[in-house]
Parts: sequence; C-alpha cells; structure tokens
Amino acid sequence: MVATESAVPSPLTQLSEEEALFQASVRRFARERLAPHVRSMDDAGVFRQDLLREFFELGLMAVEVPEQFGGQSGTFFQSVLAIEELARVDPSAAVIVDVQNTLFLNAILHWGTDEQKRRWLPRAAKDTVASYALSEAGSGSDAFALTTRAVEDGDGYRITGRKLWITNAGEAGFFLLFANVNPEQGYKGITAFLIERDCPGFQVGKKEDKLGIRASSTCELILDGCYVPKSNVVGELGKGYKIAIETLNEGRIGIGGQMLGLAQGALDHALAYAQQRKQFGKSISEFQGVQFELAEMAVDVEATRLMVYNAARLHDAGRPFLTEAAMCKYFASQVAERVASRAVEVLGGVGFTKDYPVEKLYRDAKIGRIYEGTSNMQKVTIAKQLLNRDR
Ligand SMILES: Cc1cc2nc3c(=O)[nH]c(=O)nc-3n(C[C@H](O)[C@H](O)[C@H](O)COP(=O)(O)OP(=O)(O)OC[C@H]3O[C@@H](n4cnc5c(N)ncnc54)[C@H](O)[C@@H]3O)c2cc1C
Repeated sequence: MVATESAVPSPLTQLSEEEALFQASVRRFARERLAPHVRSMDDAGVFRQDLLREFFELGLMAVEVPEQFGGQSGTFFQSVLAIEELARVDPSAAVIVDVQNTLFLNAILHWGTDEQKRRWLPRAAKDTVASYALSEAGSGSDAFALTTRAVEDGDGYRITGRKLWITNAGEAGFFLLFANVNPEQGYKGITAFLIERDCPGFQVGKKEDKLGIRASSTCELILDGCYVPKSNVVGELGKGYKIAIETLNEGRIGIGGQMLGLAQGALDHALAYAQQRKQFGKSISEFQGVQFELAEMAVDVEATRLMVYNAARLHDAGRPFLTEAAMCKYFASQVAERVASRAVEVLGGVGFTKDYPVEKLYRDAKIGRIYEGTSNMQKVTIAKQLLNRDR
C-alpha cells in the first residue's frame, strides 16, 4: 500500500510551530539573560533569584500544568526542549527546571487529587520552586531502603528522618518527600508526602560544595517529627514506591535533555573557537585533525538528540518508553562527558581555564552519570527489559 503524505511519520527532530516558538523563546532567554551570569553563579555556587523569577514569568516552571492552574498546558516534549536549551548555556539552570517539571509537577499531575492540584499547582506555576526528596545517606541506588519514617498521629503523620542530595532544596518552598509508614512491609510502606518548607520540625540542612552544576543547590533535609496532614499524602498509602519509579522513569528523559543541551553547548563553543583561532597561519578549523574531532562530536550530539526526542515523543504518545528513557539518559551522559572533554581540547590551553565556558561544561557533565539512577542502574533497567521482552 502506498502511504499518503499525511500518513508519513514526521522526522523526530521536526518541531511543530508551537514547539519551535517555545524553543526560540527559551533559546533567546538563555543567550541574553542567563549567559552573562553563568560564570559568577558557578563561582558563587548560588543561582540568582531574579533569573528564577524570570523562569516563572516565562512559564518554564509549569510547562505541563494546565492553564486553569496557571501553567502552560504544554507537553512533556516541550519541558525537554526547555531543559535542552537552558543546558546549552547552563546545566544548573536546566536541572532546576527539570526537577520542577519532570519530577515534582509530574507526580502531582499524575497522582494528585483534585484538591491537591487546586492547592499546589497554581503556586508552583507562579512563584514556588519544588524539590523531590527520595535519596538518603544509606539509600541511593537502593532507593527503597530509605529509613525516613512517617508515624500516624490523629489526622496526619509525623515524619522523622534525613534526606540527602536534594536538588533545589536551597530555594524550594515545596517538597515531594518519600517516607515509610510501615517498615515491616518493606518498600510497600513507602508513601509520598507533600511538605511545605515552613512545616514545624522541617529544616533544610547542609548545602553541598560540588564539582559541577554548582549554582544548583543540593542540600540535606532534616525532619524531626514534622507534622503533615493526611490530605498531603500523594497517591495511596504504601504506593510511594510506584510514584518514585514512574516519575524517575520520566525524569531520566529530562536528564537526557540536560546532557544533550550540554553537549550541544560544548560543540557550539568548539566550532566558534576553531574558526577564530589561528595557528600555522590559518584557522585551526582548516586542519583535518580538528575537523574530524568536530565531525565526531556532531555525530554524538545528533545521535543523542534522536534518542532523547524519541523517548520524549513516545511518552507524549502514551507509548511504552521505559527502555528508551534509560537508554537515552545512559547514552546522553556518556556523550556529554565525551563532547565536553573534546571541546576542552579543541580550545587548547584556554579550554582548561575558567575564562571559557567549556571547562565548566566538562565539570557539569559528570553528574549525568550519577543522579536519577547511575549508569549502572540504567544498564540494569535496560538489560531487564531486554531479557523479559517477548520475542
Ligand atoms: C548533585 C546531585 C543532585 C541530586 N539530586 C537528587 C534529588 O533531587 N533527589 C533525590 O532524591 N536524590 C538526588 N540525588 C541523589 C542521586 O540520585 C544518588 O546520588 C544516586 O542515585 C546514586 O546513589 P549513591 O550516591 O548513594 O551511590 P551508590 O548507590 O552508593 O552507588 C555507588 C556506586 O555503586 C554502583 N552500584 C550500586 N548498586 C549497584 C548495583 N546493584 N549494580 C551495579 N552497580 C551498583 C553505582 O552505579 C555507583 O557507581 C542527587 C545527587 C547528586 C550528586
């Protein structure tokens, strides 16, 4: 049968008019407003409040939230486009938007009650940064070994424990936090709670001093009998493990987008520098050795984009995307490291200094293989899917 024109699927990288407009607005913002502050924010290890406010004004902090709650009524794919464009300039900026959209809001949109949506979404869309608190000192890859405990008390729960590595916690007003209501049931006691920063017994602790994404805050959370009403339980009691697994499956595509943007940013800098730097009487881009470097970097970036966009579009099409999400995060984080490393070399000595952005991108790339499931954990997921697949 001959396919009609309309039946021919669109190329993965072809954007709809709405997607292209959205991408252009984030790209402009990243170049004009964000870029001038990247170096100083990285040095200080602090993200500027005025830029955060602009994230909200641009709608970047509630991409998929329906307009009735103050959001953009956009798609998951658009969240990934925003993350990619921001990461091209600053991966710290990208992860702030990533956690807000692909983890926190995603969980409320999927599992929140109507009352929770009315209560939490408009504030998250307007001015409140959010965090996603699963990891603890003793439970990283083995996330469900968490020991934070929630004990029933009248109409609510008292939560006690410590969380570690919580992105956005320095700025966040809202936290989606996982605690166990019934440790005897193991992971089937894990439950998701919404917590506000001013909750008595809740405290944001030490902020980590990191290798990369330094402007993104990563903090400890301390809970000492923090009281949370039952209306703040997201989803069913004991089903928090399911919420954690499913949000992280989607979040991985966001990290794929972050690593894609980072690699594209490193390639952009390498291309510009190679054409401007002269040695032996000509620009270094005229040497085949440099051209081949640039070509291989571009192949890596293109392959990553196809994987990330495919995973995001599968998600929006309601198709299974678990394997593709794990693959794209695994591959994108490898590519980000490789391309940023090669960009440092293309820039020669100045690439190794803080005067040029590639040094920072190289440092920032490392986190892609660690958070939201290490590379080994992605391979565990991919292999499990391969071995269980019907053939
Ligand atoms: C900057 C930053 C931001 C973060 N943000 C958040 C956040 O917002 N919310 C949150 O909840 N968490 C967050 N995390 C935590 C992050 O998800 C964990 O650090 C990550 O899952 C790894 O856990 P771990 O550090 O305990 O390492 P471990 O689990 O101790 O792993 C150490 C090494 O052992 C390997 N390993 C472990 N188990 C296996 C296995 N079964 N098979 C093969 N290899 C294995 C790992 O791959 C890794 O190489 C963040 C971490 C960082 C560094």
